Amino acid sequence: MNNNRLPVLTIVVPCYNEEEVLMITARELTSILKELISETLISPESSMLFVDDGSKDRTWELITALHKTNRHANGIKLSKNAGHQNALLAGMDTAKSYSDCIITIDADLQDDVQAIRQFIFKYREGHDVVYGIRSERKSDTAFKRHTAQWFYKGMEKMGVDLVYNHADYRLLSKRALEELSRYRERNFFIRGVIPLLGFRSAEVYYDRKERAAGESKYPLRKMLAFAFDGITSFSIKPIRLLTVSGFFFLVFSALAGIFAVIQKFNGYTVPGWTSIMLSIWFIGGLQLMGIGLVGEYVGKVFKEVKQRPRYGIDSGLIRNSSQPKKTS
Ligand code: UDP
Ligand code: MG
Repeated sequence: MNNNRLPVLTIVVPCYNEEEVLMITARELTSILKELISETLISPESSMLFVDDGSKDRTWELITALHKTNRHANGIKLSKNAGHQNALLAGMDTAKSYSDCIITIDADLQDDVQAIRQFIFKYREGHDVVYGIRSERKSDTAFKRHTAQWFYKGMEKMGVDLVYNHADYRLLSKRALEELSRYRERNFFIRGVIPLLGFRSAEVYYDRKERAAGESKYPLRKMLAFAFDGITSFSIKPIRLLTVSGFFFLVFSALAGIFAVIQKFNGYTVPGWTSIMLSIWFIGGLQLMGIGLVGEYVGKVFKEVKQRPRYGIDSGLIRNSSQPKKTS
């Protein structure tokens, strides 16, 4: 950080059908921005960037209205729903050109906005990455808490380095953002990549609250897809597991075969129907699963080689800065 100049902060907020909560969120974020500006902790040029991720409700209308009346409110509208992670990327790519650091936060106020102050302190101490950690998840349903814990444990077992109870509430410095933009993968699982960036990092703890309004945009189906994507885009352990179990079954069937031959020479006829049927089904099932799993990775490679853009920008409302790029 340049000590002679106050850092320009941009708060990136992905919004998908968030008309119910957007104005409350904007008010809360504006008040914390104004506090930090008046305490000369951040530059008066600091702002919020709302990313409309192809919402079907009035989200973009509200962002447009906010931009007119609130000098700290900017927005970009994606050309279609690109998903939470891509919306974050679009926001970060756009804000990078005019910010010294960015904070990403969900639109629903589940993450305590007061933690932003701690983020800035940590940034000013020279940290490039500051993780927001949920120290308390009482407000999440027991189901969400448990599935999240299994997810972290499972990912750890698969060799993916994740920060426990950290989602996408974090601060990144400009150079961390530059580094992040060198990761060009299509299946971008941001929270798995951030620990790979290196740099000095810090953690800030906060209590996670209930959604201020509206419903979760992450139903079970999306949660499962997200977890599965996370594993398969980062780890080849599932394939290795398959190889190991394949080897195990090979050895086991060889032993069983030898046993059957010995039994035959000893004069026993093997009735064997049950065992044959069982093994056919079992091995068949295992093979199908294996093929499917390998297919998943092939599918991933397929997506990666195409190098399609991760998001498209329809329009942008940005004050005091260059206009956003069309795609990335
Ligand atoms: N979101 C998005 N695109 C999507 C789904 C969600 O930009 O396709 C945003 C959403 O508006 C919110 C954030 O991602 O700001 C997290 O979503 P949500 O709060 O619904 O998830 P939960 O907290 O229930 O996991
Ligand atoms: Mg939420």
